[in-house]
Amino acid sequence: MSFITETDKQFVANTYARFPVELVSGKGSIVVDSDGKEYIDMGSGIAVTSFGLADDEWANAVTAQLTRLQHTSNLYYTEPCANLAKMLCDRTGFKKVFFSNSGAEANECAIKVARKYAAEKKGVDYYTIITLENSFHGRTLTTLAATGQEHYHELFQPLTPGFIHTPAGDIENLKKLVSENKIAAIMIECIQGEGGVNPQTPEFVKAVADICEKEDIIFIVDEVQTGNGRTGELYAYMNYGVMPDVVSTAKGIGGGLPLGACMLGEKVQNVLGFGDHGSTFGGNPVCCAGAVNIISRIDDNLLSDVKKKSEFIFNSFKKAKGVKSITGMGLMIGIETEKSASDIVKACISKGVLCLTAKNKVRLLPALNIPFDVLERAIEIIKEACAD
Ligand SMILES: *Cc1c(COP(=O)(O)O)cnc(C)c1O
Repeated sequence: MSFITETDKQFVANTYARFPVELVSGKGSIVVDSDGKEYIDMGSGIAVTSFGLADDEWANAVTAQLTRLQHTSNLYYTEPCANLAKMLCDRTGFKKVFFSNSGAEANECAIKVARKYAAEKKGVDYYTIITLENSFHGRTLTTLAATGQEHYHELFQPLTPGFIHTPAGDIENLKKLVSENKIAAIMIECIQGEGGVNPQTPEFVKAVADICEKEDIIFIVDEVQTGNGRTGELYAYMNYGVMPDVVSTAKGIGGGLPLGACMLGEKVQNVLGFGDHGSTFGGNPVCCAGAVNIISRIDDNLLSDVKKKSEFIFNSFKKAKGVKSITGMGLMIGIETEKSASDIVKACISKGVLCLTAKNKVRLLPALNIPFDVLERAIEIIKEACAD
């Protein structure tokens, strides 16, 4: 075992089952380990490095801001934060943005907004939020409560009260829960990421939007993983022809720096007032300068490339040996394989490809700008690993 691995194992909390790989550098979709071995990066640090590693344009935007003004606190105005908020609103129709540092925090903001809206509009007992079974919304005690997977909850009780879960796709049960409880919000992922790359049906998403509209319930879409071009649209809800009241995002928006955003629609734009919420680092100018660069480059050309690459990946795996099914949208893809997903990920590491798992699936989240020939090489290697 190397010194770095040994030191990490001794001094870093045991929360991650790391692969025996020490990464030292990267460029684009190629990442290099401490032995000089190269890998094709099909995970992007879990949908984070939207334009790959050490991307020049993004790095220039970040370093220019870094050497000018790295932090101010939220007591003052800064240009990157204002520009990013405007850019997001212009591209989506949302009215205001609250910036945080992570996905869980973006969801915390969404939950606070929904609860305050309901408390003021209907009464303080209207605090319950419906989320989906098998969802993933984060690791804080409140977003864990929102997460519809019991095994994350067990030894951390009591979690924040006021969350109930319903099966994805079950419109009747959703209506029943809405009629029997005092509901503030319904929160969904359009494609469950950690839950196994499961896209919702258009009927279900439309039904959630309709119920929320009719009952004056806040419709929250968690786009922490699906957002920022990942699915072939800027945000995944755009594939479904609905307009949520609140969208949370993080991961890919910062291109590799920690940034979360909670976007507020017309109905809830003024729910938060002075002192209702805050974050020391939220909207940090360096993170926002990088994000302005990332969001400005997710244009129609890039999105159409994402869709083409997606189609290519789907076609490549459809009839591949050892592959049972393929799910997902854009460059967020799950492959159900005959062998265990973790065995395939390990085999891919030895063959020079980094990919992820999600439940029983191999999950692919390559950079949005992965070059076609690099993508082709990665697919050949993953197919080999599935067939072996
Ligand atoms: C990753 C993820 C989160 C949590 O984001 P963090 O930045 O790790 O807090 C929340 N929701 C979804 C859908 C995610 O994929």
